[in-house]
Amino acid sequence: MRALQYAEPGGPLTLVDLPDPEPPVHGAVLAVEATGLCRSDVHAWAGHDPDVVVGAHAGPGGGAATHVPGHELAGRVVAVGAGVDASWLGRRATTPFVHACGSCPECAAGDGQVCRDQTQPGFTTQGSWADQVVVRHADVNLVEVPDDVDGGAAALLGCRFATAYRGLVQRAQLRPGERVLVVGCGGVGLSAVVVAAALGAEVVAADVDERALARAVELGASATVRTAGLSPAEVADAVRAAGGGAGPAVSVDAVGRPGALDACLLSLARRGRHVQIGLVASEPVVEVSRVVSHELALLGSHGMDARSYPELMALVTSGRLRPQDLVARWLPLEDAAGIEALVRAMDGGTAPVGVTMIRP
Ligand SMILES: [Zn+2]
Ligand SMILES: [Zn+2]
Repeated sequence: MRALQYAEPGGPLTLVDLPDPEPPVHGAVLAVEATGLCRSDVHAWAGHDPDVVVGAHAGPGGGAATHVPGHELAGRVVAVGAGVDASWLGRRATTPFVHACGSCPECAAGDGQVCRDQTQPGFTTQGSWADQVVVRHADVNLVEVPDDVDGGAAALLGCRFATAYRGLVQRAQLRPGERVLVVGCGGVGLSAVVVAAALGAEVVAADVDERALARAVELGASATVRTAGLSPAEVADAVRAAGGGAGPAVSVDAVGRPGALDACLLSLARRGRHVQIGLVASEPVVEVSRVVSHELALLGSHGMDARSYPELMALVTSGRLRPQDLVARWLPLEDAAGIEALVRAMDGGTAPVGVTMIRP
């Protein structure tokens, strides 16, 4: 199979031929039809993610130590290992980027997204920027995708869209009519805008980039705050002004940039709920005294257990949620230079607006 890989953090992406993966016991192999370029791929490539050990996977012929990114995917099951329901063969599927073990205490409680024995394609194992990818514990992690669901939409359910959905619906328990602040209008932030607007919330979008804010408005945001050059307190003032003086009930940091979390905590109404989705490259300074005095809730969101997908898939198949609207461009897998240029642009903060999908 073909795959894109890099040999060192920040290094070039190259298209290589690798042996087709064999399904491990309890695992399956998917032929990838769509795989996203997500900000966490960029964090891993840049060397920000301690879970990514470049060199954990042998290159062609067991040669150079390399890494294949990609964790947000959809495809068709082409092989299953021992212990996997063979009826999966030939079916279309996506998977949460957290491959849960299915048997630890967290998995037993229905919380595979925080499984203590998890693996993650593109981070701890070879990823989906390839013709084929392995899904471990397939009976636990495969989510069937109906044939009429767009491939890009199905892939987005593996990471960004599902993470935004779980963060707003299951973690923050966002209610219709509430105001929500979304800081960072990249892929996961725009996903949060779409989900919040569909739930009947009033969305304030914040970003450094005017074009990203314009896209957020097209997708349902009713107010915007341009954060370029503003301190967290100035962002909070602008967010409150957009809400007629009142702070939002829910905030989402979808970018993880310095100052974004503080801007959220300073914006929130008393007893507000903050959802942290963006990965931070260094530990932020948090307004802890405000968390106490305003009784703020600080919630993480880390993907979603496969067992929680039916309600989300039903909203997608009914057309109420359209993740495919977030996809701005498709690149073929063989366009290593074009994909590397986008990775470098995202790392440098100059990426074009919207979600990039890779088609093997
Ligand atoms: Zn992701
Ligand atoms: Zn587990």
